[in-house]
Amino acid sequence: MWLNANELESAIHYGRHEQNYNRYPDFLPHDVASAYQRYCQVTTPVMAVRGADEAIDLLIRTFCQPGKDKIVVCSPTYAMYEFCADALAIETLHVPLMEDNFALDTHGVIAAAKDANVVFLCSPNNPTGNPLATDAIIEVLEGTRHDALVVVDEAYIEFELDQSVASLIATYPNLVVIRTLSKAFGLAAVRCGFILADASVMEYVAKLIPPYPMPDSSATIVLEALSEAGLNQVRHMTQQLIETRQWFIGELQTLDFIHKIYPSSTNFVLLRAHPNDDLFAYLLQHGIVTRNQSHDPALRDCVRITIGCRTSMQEVVDVLRRYPSQS
Ligand SMILES: *Cc1c(COP(=O)(O)O)cnc(C)c1O
Repeated sequence: MWLNANELESAIHYGRHEQNYNRYPDFLPHDVASAYQRYCQVTTPVMAVRGADEAIDLLIRTFCQPGKDKIVVCSPTYAMYEFCADALAIETLHVPLMEDNFALDTHGVIAAAKDANVVFLCSPNNPTGNPLATDAIIEVLEGTRHDALVVVDEAYIEFELDQSVASLIATYPNLVVIRTLSKAFGLAAVRCGFILADASVMEYVAKLIPPYPMPDSSATIVLEALSEAGLNQVRHMTQQLIETRQWFIGELQTLDFIHKIYPSSTNFVLLRAHPNDDLFAYLLQHGIVTRNQSHDPALRDCVRITIGCRTSMQEVVDVLRRYPSQS
């Protein structure tokens, strides 16, 4: 008889749902974490969290003291690192990626890390689409091992799996990898992400994660996604998406008002249009919502387009072909 947690003993079934939700789920969802660990083929500790965004927040809160500590980010990159740091009164130091190919400025990062607690690297990087070279990440890990934790955000790694640095955690205990099921796995609404880290790091993160982080309904779906059948579906979809992406890039290359199409290892493409053209507004007028990156000086006239299914991308190409270019 479980009369210890003030739960309702007999479940109420709302609507047509048959499952019982009256009991608290696992204190920490260990079955989900071990399923993900099997998928990664690592022995490194894994923790399941509510999306990679919670992982970012958790890591900053665990390792930085408000009003005192700093993080390092390599811009242009995912905005959430700085956003979380701001909310927690942690200063963000920017070390820009190289202008031409968005590669890491390893010396810059190592120098900035002397003054910081956590370095965020995003690989493949959002919104530029390129993976960071493993050699460069190793150089940063070597150069920061006494100064800072290096968090590599692998939200898009399924689109270029051999670029993962997860296996390096065994060698570099200052490396933390974060993952998500929101992109290639197609489970953005389920809110599930993972932290992969050395036991010495995880010990501290575990102190700050709230209990019962994952609803039962989410855990059930995640376990199905990480089953053999689920993983086969993900691999198939990923392969298809990569083919569509390469086809789409090929079509873009025939359009002269597009100055540059950056190589992509993700499910999006970053492109730079002619300086006089407002591609984002034009696409929006035609009902196609993309991400305008022009607010970032390094990405002036850049638009980030998510790769959808083949018919959607065909429609984007058709609309682009009718673009009244001023070039
Ligand atoms: C989308 C994205 C995330 C957020 O993932 P969630 O698991 O949905 O919170 C984190 N990092 C990067 C780089 C992303 O693009």
